[in-house]
Amino acid sequence: MLCACSGTAKTPGPSVSVSELPLQESHSPTPSATPAPALQPVSRYNVELTVSPVERTVTGIMRVSFTNTTPQPMFSIYINAPLNAFESGSPVPEEFNGKTYANGLDYGYIHITSADVDNDPVQVNVTGTVIEISLSEQLQPNNRLELRLGFEAKVPMINHRTGANEHAIWFGNFLPTLAVYDEFGWHTEPYYSMGDPFYTEAADYNVSISTPLDYIVVGTGEQTTSATPDTKVSRFSATLARDFAFAISNEYVLSTLTTKTGVYIDLYTYTDITNKDYVLTLAEKSLDWFSSQISPYPFQQLVIAEVGLFGSIGMEYPQIVFIDSEYLRTSEKLESLAHEIGHQWFYNIIGNNQIDNAWMDEGLTTFVQEGIFGSKADINSKMWDNYSYLEDILTEPTEPTTRRLSSRLNEFTKWSDYYRIHYLRGELMFYALAEELGEDGFKQFLGEYYRRFAFKIATPEDLIDTAEDSSGQDLTCFFDGWINDETLPPFPNGGE
Ligand SMILES: [Zn+2]
Repeated sequence: MLCACSGTAKTPGPSVSVSELPLQESHSPTPSATPAPALQPVSRYNVELTVSPVERTVTGIMRVSFTNTTPQPMFSIYINAPLNAFESGSPVPEEFNGKTYANGLDYGYIHITSADVDNDPVQVNVTGTVIEISLSEQLQPNNRLELRLGFEAKVPMINHRTGANEHAIWFGNFLPTLAVYDEFGWHTEPYYSMGDPFYTEAADYNVSISTPLDYIVVGTGEQTTSATPDTKVSRFSATLARDFAFAISNEYVLSTLTTKTGVYIDLYTYTDITNKDYVLTLAEKSLDWFSSQISPYPFQQLVIAEVGLFGSIGMEYPQIVFIDSEYLRTSEKLESLAHEIGHQWFYNIIGNNQIDNAWMDEGLTTFVQEGIFGSKADINSKMWDNYSYLEDILTEPTEPTTRRLSSRLNEFTKWSDYYRIHYLRGELMFYALAEELGEDGFKQFLGEYYRRFAFKIATPEDLIDTAEDSSGQDLTCFFDGWINDETLPPFPNGGE
């Protein structure tokens, strides 16, 4: 695509001082667990789960409120249930089949057993991971409904976002979530094996989880626990969370650290981890770094849970990150832990369509995290190496099949290609942007991005507009080259 570079300076947007941007003006000893309210009506999930760990089954009831914020009446609403991708076949990149199914093939599902809207039974049509709820009465603009779903689920004995081993069971992207409705309509994508094929609005969650007494339950949000003679009930409350995730184990051992700003970091492990102090210290350093670059971490706690994952060595969820057991025990630097913590800002707080625009959270998180592990000179050198590596690959005539940041998840056939584009090319773009705007200008962009889109969804155009407004520069050609061209734009400052 041709790009007409005007070279003219854009009229600066409102002058914004980075120090004025955070929702919390400074770290307080006890950070508020209640972020600033979103402007749109927020959906509320009230969920009751009963987990039978030996059988790896779950029965549940979920009540979710939904408001029609469009000007049109709605005839249906849609729910995504990713676990149903694991009911048959193998929704895993071929590269990761061995790790995922280390214990053999196993299947999982989440089956809807009842559905009603405002207490009237409704028709449910399930197509793979997409659940259509046909409304018996149209939902008029600005009207609200309450959907009640009963379900039964089975957790497969696999290393994946939802999975299990002999030590623990974990539930990532487990709960059915409302599909996003935006200017393009309902987002009812099938499950893709590449990337993180998820796109959700921030919502409020109240989840109660019943387990046998000897199980430790960890999850998204503030937790309280009660017990009957034979059952433990763990209740979680989270405000404006992008999803709800949890893990259970009767072997979890807790190690904790309270940061200087009062955030509780809880590390739960089931194997003999020798570097717990390093893990907790790195987690604090990561929270501090991302807070300093964007805006203070606005939650009370952060949980790190040992689980078994496939190729990904960590997985981000609101206020909880899953880290693969083997990686946790063998990695020296644990860069993935810092990465998943960075996703608290880019994915959880500022949402984006991770199917269409994975670079918005992966590329940006990967670039910002570099400052935790290296100096500016280290980063310059690493980016030059990454650029040279990627340039060699992108000039190969046959491979990879996808070269652009505008490539959606379903355009990739190998995880390594997806990684090279949305992580490496994405990171290089934000490195180049930081070089273009300067250190202060880039931080101003990040602060403004947070101020505009915290707990909302940002589109690529939103991100570009924010960069242009905060810098006063016309960045049309810059972003067009990095996002849409097959080849790489020049390395900043001519390279080494
Ligand atoms: Zn990531």
